[in-house]
Amino acid sequence: MNKYQHTIKKAVRIGGVGLHSGKPVKLTIRPAKANSGIRFVRTDINPEAVIPAFMTRVVDTCLATTISQDNVSVATTEHLLAALNGLGIDNATIELDGPEVPIMDGSAGPFVHILKKVHRRRQKCIRKMVKVTKEIIFQDGDRVIRVLPYNGMKITCEIDFMHDMIRKQSYSLVLSSKRFAEEIANARTFGFLDEVEKLQENGLALGGSLDNAIVMDNLGVMNEEGLRYTDEFVRHKLLDIVGDLALLGCPLVGHVVASKTGHTQHLGLLNAIAAHPECWEFVKLEKNGKNNVLEHVVTTTKAAGNMILPFFVPPQTAFAGKTCPA
Ligand SMILES: [Zn+2]
Repeated sequence: MNKYQHTIKKAVRIGGVGLHSGKPVKLTIRPAKANSGIRFVRTDINPEAVIPAFMTRVVDTCLATTISQDNVSVATTEHLLAALNGLGIDNATIELDGPEVPIMDGSAGPFVHILKKVHRRRQKCIRKMVKVTKEIIFQDGDRVIRVLPYNGMKITCEIDFMHDMIRKQSYSLVLSSKRFAEEIANARTFGFLDEVEKLQENGLALGGSLDNAIVMDNLGVMNEEGLRYTDEFVRHKLLDIVGDLALLGCPLVGHVVASKTGHTQHLGLLNAIAAHPECWEFVKLEKNGKNNVLEHVVTTTKAAGNMILPFFVPPQTAFAGKTCPA
């Protein structure tokens, strides 16, 4: 964990196609001032539309995490946000000329690759972090996500699919930019052939192919190159959690334990955190001799309920989640 906020040293560009639209998208990630957080800018709209990457801006969590402001939206934010969050980048402006972040190879690897090339830049402001002091839980049938007190950022994730290639898998790690880049960033998203066909019949996943997802049929993995890790599926779920946690607006200090969750439940946990300010406190990292300690930060922002983020963004109606089509 870092005491200070970070941005990137200079702008980087990357291009790809949107998973659902199948259309080309150009994306530029630019350095941003301290306390500005992560913001998306739709450059194809006149005047340019700014959408903060924040939980109150989420409007859809069915297939991916979509955020929106004033009816302008950005879909599939999670893999890029995972790259930024995983590498400890607090402030950045992401310009894109379409409604969807490019899917690249279905992982966060290409984003991590370009971000690491330009390096991080330390900023003068300290990071205010949300340290969980009492367990907070979000439950949705047998899908459960909780965060427990822990002196650091740890994520444990478990999945259970009825497919022979997957079944039960679990993965746990103490998050650092090194471990994120080495163990998590390259894990690809996955789907089942019949689901992909159904989506495409409905005009979705038009950009989806074996180049940007693991696709499985009854016989197994259809991708010629096979899997990158035998447990690539659960690693990707952990990647999605890192991405969705970025929408809290500041780093979370605690142990997140997720079982069979998706974007809807991840957002459910963020809303539960916002609704229970008695279960966490703002902290900053301080040096005490040779050791780093988490020191309590006196703040009045918690009194504002849902507006927990230090990068103040006026609240919009909170997204309560909706039933995703089966
Ligand atoms: Zn994903």
